[in-house]
Amino acid sequence: MSIKSTNPFTLEILKSFDEMTNEQIDHALEKAHTAYLNWRTTSYQERATILNKVGTILRSKKAELSKLITLEMGKLLAQAESEIDYAASIFEYYAKHGETFLKDEKIEVDSGEAYIKKTPIGVLLGVEPWNFPFYQVARFAAPNIMIGNTIVLKHASIVPQCAKAIEDIFKEAGAPEGVYTNLFVRGSKVTKLIADKRIQGASLTGSEKAGSELAMMAGKYIKKSVLELGGSDPFIVLEDADIERTVSLAIKGRTVNNGQSCIAAKRFIVMEKIASEFLTQFKVAMSKLKLGNPLEADTELGPLSSEDALESILKQIETAVSEGAKIEIGGKRAKLKGAFIEPTIISHISPKMKIYKEELFGPVASFYIVKTVEEAIALANDTEFGLGGSVFTKDIEKGKEIAHQIDSGMVFINHPTKSSVELPFGGTKRSGYGREMSPLGIDEFVNKKLIRVL
Ligand code: NAP
Repeated sequence: MSIKSTNPFTLEILKSFDEMTNEQIDHALEKAHTAYLNWRTTSYQERATILNKVGTILRSKKAELSKLITLEMGKLLAQAESEIDYAASIFEYYAKHGETFLKDEKIEVDSGEAYIKKTPIGVLLGVEPWNFPFYQVARFAAPNIMIGNTIVLKHASIVPQCAKAIEDIFKEAGAPEGVYTNLFVRGSKVTKLIADKRIQGASLTGSEKAGSELAMMAGKYIKKSVLELGGSDPFIVLEDADIERTVSLAIKGRTVNNGQSCIAAKRFIVMEKIASEFLTQFKVAMSKLKLGNPLEADTELGPLSSEDALESILKQIETAVSEGAKIEIGGKRAKLKGAFIEPTIISHISPKMKIYKEELFGPVASFYIVKTVEEAIALANDTEFGLGGSVFTKDIEKGKEIAHQIDSGMVFINHPTKSSVELPFGGTKRSGYGREMSPLGIDEFVNKKLIRVL
């Protein structure tokens, strides 16, 4: 079966790629393993040179690469351009700081000497999603290539052109063959690869189902794994918040990447006293968003990544309505050719409804009214996810107190959760484990070897 690139705006098939045969996969793993045996002996300087070149090429090809993202998965072009710059900055960050992050750590001992030496572990399997096709790969590949590991990367099947472009950029940057290899395989086949003795660890960003399957195999074969999974981030608005600013951030938080971000604000939890005013402004602002061609500069909301994604979120909404939830605005397929949904706000959601527990991967906001801060925290935590979250208040100390009580990997005060290369990124509970980016992101797939001199 071929892997197809489809434009979600026009629904045209752009290109098809053959899935790799077992022999081709075996050859790719052998190349990655052979490359590792040499790559681990190279200096940090040599590795940094390649990463910096990858960054430079990404920036020099920004126009063409961002257009590719937009054509394959529907991201607004300006956001795709930012993604390319961001991915470049991640490669440059680890090129610049990697050696410092990986330096030996001395341990105070009574006699002799003791230190931890961080060494690479081998070939790593990366499984990445389509929603940020360059950024997601950068945050996994950059630190690990700096460590001296090599990468085989299985990208999401709906972004094969981006997947191929990334491999080509590594080649152009002069990375030795096998340091970064793209695998054209389907998700259903990928976990089997973990059994291969040449693979030493795996990182997956994606759904809970895929993460769980990968982690089961990693557990069976005793291999390290990192999981960056879904989220249903709370967005808590206290009575003293600046409503106008908060509503404008609510729109950004919910609609970034056409609503398809793991750390998008998804559950809007607003104090009763200001709930009506907040909801009125939120509805007006969401309804005004201009849907259209993601390549055009004045478009504010593009299509979802695929028809499948659209059908799945429409089904979630339909079920919610049948269970008694209220559609404040939207809720239907938009009257455009591509995979468009109307910007949607849903209220009157109760814990018994399916939607209460689910992640909504699109521009669909769940709206809740609470009477007390305690109720807001309890609602924020009443989810199996634990990725990000945000609190809006003028009282920063109160915001911090609330942040400390939210069970998630990241909480932002007065801004929806966002990622930044110097900040650790990752979740808790069913949002996964491990961290990417920042110094923590280079610490996942290293052997922290103790050297003791007596
Ligand atoms: P997905 O279906 O899990 O796909 C993600 C990747 O996993 C793809 O490469 C996919 O390959 C592969 N895959 C699918 N089934 C698999 C299996 N059984 N075993 C191993 N790999 C498998 O996720 P999605 O629905 O496209 O992406 C959206 C999800 O990702 C959301 O839940 C979102 O919150 C989450 N996400 C999390 C983060 C984070 O950092 N925490 C970031 C972005 C997205 P195919 O494409 O071939 O199926």
